[in-house]
Amino acid sequence: MEPLLDRLGRPLETLRVSVTDRCNFRCVYCMPKEVFGRDWSFLERKELLSLEEIARVVGVFADLGVRTVRITGGEPLVRRNVEHLIELLAAIEPPGGGRLELALTTNGSLLTQKAEALAEAGLSRVTVSLDSLDDEAFRAMNDVDFPVQRVLEGIDAATAAGLPVKVNAVVKRGANDEDLPGLAERFRGTGHVLRFIEYMDVGSTNGWRLEDVVPAEEIVRRISEHWPLEPVSADRPDATARRWRYLDGAGEIGVVASVTQPFCGGCSRARLSAEGRLYTCLFAARGHDLRAPLRLGASDDELAERLRSIWTRRTDHYSELRTAETATLPKVEMSYIGG
Ligand code: SAM
Repeated sequence: MEPLLDRLGRPLETLRVSVTDRCNFRCVYCMPKEVFGRDWSFLERKELLSLEEIARVVGVFADLGVRTVRITGGEPLVRRNVEHLIELLAAIEPPGGGRLELALTTNGSLLTQKAEALAEAGLSRVTVSLDSLDDEAFRAMNDVDFPVQRVLEGIDAATAAGLPVKVNAVVKRGANDEDLPGLAERFRGTGHVLRFIEYMDVGSTNGWRLEDVVPAEEIVRRISEHWPLEPVSADRPDATARRWRYLDGAGEIGVVASVTQPFCGGCSRARLSAEGRLYTCLFAARGHDLRAPLRLGASDDELAERLRSIWTRRTDHYSELRTAETATLPKVEMSYIGG
């Protein structure tokens, strides 16, 4: 099958699907309490794509070449019956055979209850967000006083259920950067790849400042001071994380450096919001409505044509253009689109 290319020659390969804009955490860099409080209007139930509608859209994306689907949110595990969605997606047969790679990003708070059902439903792997091992710092970052121990138990439950686990830590200067070696030490030699993420100017509510970003180069240097690292070549052209291997053989870490080392050139990701809007960049201000045609009875061919026309016109490469001025432009919220 000929890959579907955008205007910059990038194929459509990965779809991220947000299944809810709600979350049980209020991470200060993502859903600050002052903004996402009682007055914030979250999507209503009828506005959300149903699990069947999501599966149908994913099936059309698979026909166009998507092979990896990441379920995200908000917090995807607060969406009722999300394991049924995994079952529906696992049943999709992409053209050319095989099955979809199904990943899920979660804050880990509900993994202990859900890991086994997710694995049984056909989930391929899980990424757990965990910004600090220091209980006080962690509770302050999630801002709902959630203890770090319960996330660690969630990681253990996922591992016990046979799910490969990656751990994502957003690094914000002054909030958790003191804990970089602690995180590295905890996951060295466990088989779980730890990935550090530069704090990004997503959305318009987190008061992002460049001074709060800890550059990838500094992250790698600070870990290397304890355990020397060497670079590893990327396993796929659209990888988000640059890989580093411990010289002593205790595994590897990744660094997602969207701010200091943008990777738009390899971006093969489309993003679907919980209400069915398609975004072609994490930093876009507007999405394309798929829910209306879906609910008005569009056929799969008509939906595919709409997706083709959106993707083939895509030119986004925000991270390569970022300046202090663009950082203040209106953009879709991370909690709405899911990363
Ligand atoms: N609730 C799920 C979770 O915690 O993983 C999925 C959604 S969350 C929006 C996805 C990821 O985005 C998390 O790893 C979170 O830490 C990250 N994130 C949120 N805001 C960010 C920011 N401003 N910069 C970098 N990463 C951010």
